[in-house]
Amino acid sequence: MTAKKIQTVTTGADPRLAGGRLTIDLDALVANWLFLAKKSKPAEASAVVKSDAYGLGIVQVVPALWQAGCRTFFVALAEEGLRVKAVAPDARVFVLNGFFAEAFETYGQSDLIPVLGSVHELGSWKRLNTRRKDKLPFALHVDTGMNRLGITVEEALTFADDPRNPKPVLVMTHLATADDQAHALNRKQIESFQKLRVAFAGIESSIANSPGIFHAAIGEYELSRPGVAMYGGEPLSSAANPMRPVVTLEARIVQIRTGLKGETVGYGATATLARDTRIAVCSVGYADGYLRSASGSGVPLRGAVPNGGVGFVAGSKVPIIGRVTMDLTSFDITDLPADAISPGDYVELFGHNIALDDAARAAGTIGYELLTSLGNRYHRRYLKSESD
Ligand SMILES: *Cc1c(COP(=O)(O)O)cnc(C)c1O
Repeated sequence: MTAKKIQTVTTGADPRLAGGRLTIDLDALVANWLFLAKKSKPAEASAVVKSDAYGLGIVQVVPALWQAGCRTFFVALAEEGLRVKAVAPDARVFVLNGFFAEAFETYGQSDLIPVLGSVHELGSWKRLNTRRKDKLPFALHVDTGMNRLGITVEEALTFADDPRNPKPVLVMTHLATADDQAHALNRKQIESFQKLRVAFAGIESSIANSPGIFHAAIGEYELSRPGVAMYGGEPLSSAANPMRPVVTLEARIVQIRTGLKGETVGYGATATLARDTRIAVCSVGYADGYLRSASGSGVPLRGAVPNGGVGFVAGSKVPIIGRVTMDLTSFDITDLPADAISPGDYVELFGHNIALDDAARAAGTIGYELLTSLGNRYHRRYLKSESD
């Protein structure tokens, strides 16, 4: 057996000049999508690539998914839709965040499909289309309990009843509580969605985001919309994460110093050393999306959740000392062997040894926010098996 060759595409900062590096395993991303596609069956699986593919890069992520067989993509903005089309011209691209009349020409020219989610949007879309012989396709977003985007269920049923109305190519709704399977709102939303499927019989329908794909009582639908799980995030808060990690974030050690017992570390002097402490000062901070709320001390969150973020280096987890600052974060490496690490080495912030969602919890947030906050100062490496 020959070892599979891994191709590395690098973007972002020059690694010799950068403070941190991001490694994005496109094989793991594709394996995750294929797993979700299998779980979605008999429905088709799309891929949600809004916010530059959750911070990982549309330019790399979309072609990898297209090659794996993904044909339908969701973005938040028309501008993002154009970037998907630039790398996957034949993709079917839905734009989630509503429709503004000024964008109408672009939808037609660039073959993007708006997801219309208010009576106002439907009206302006219909009006603009009257001038066209070939009517542009649209999807319909129905609100079944989230009160964010979408026409009401009653409005949708009335719309479906009137034969003069144009037919959407897709009817969709979005779940508010799918990551918590026991939440009562799931049942209400799923029931309303099934009613809509009857009213819009013969039209493709979509309900499941990542957690929805794992929901035991989700019922039938034609198109799933996974996002975070594809990128390695946990789909359910209460169960072990079945997804492969996709992203590894590492920061470079700038220097290793010793602070003496009784001294303090960092802004606000919020961490007082209980022993002589070896400190690894790393080149990453909140300007890179390594959130200040993950600080070891001196932030409000530490009153509620005592432990801050950790790094992983030389086989061990090491806690953050004091506050995460704009460009630097310090870790307590006292318990590592004296010669285990040196300046220039990398400390993992999340990846194979620290789960994305654990790093997020230490900062009082969710994996989604950590990924979409990733800054632009990193050296980026995209790993992918060479296809033959
Ligand atoms: C972001 C989003 C998704 C993807 O959700 P995940 O929880 O990341 O899988 C699906 N549908 C809609 C409407 C969204 O806004």
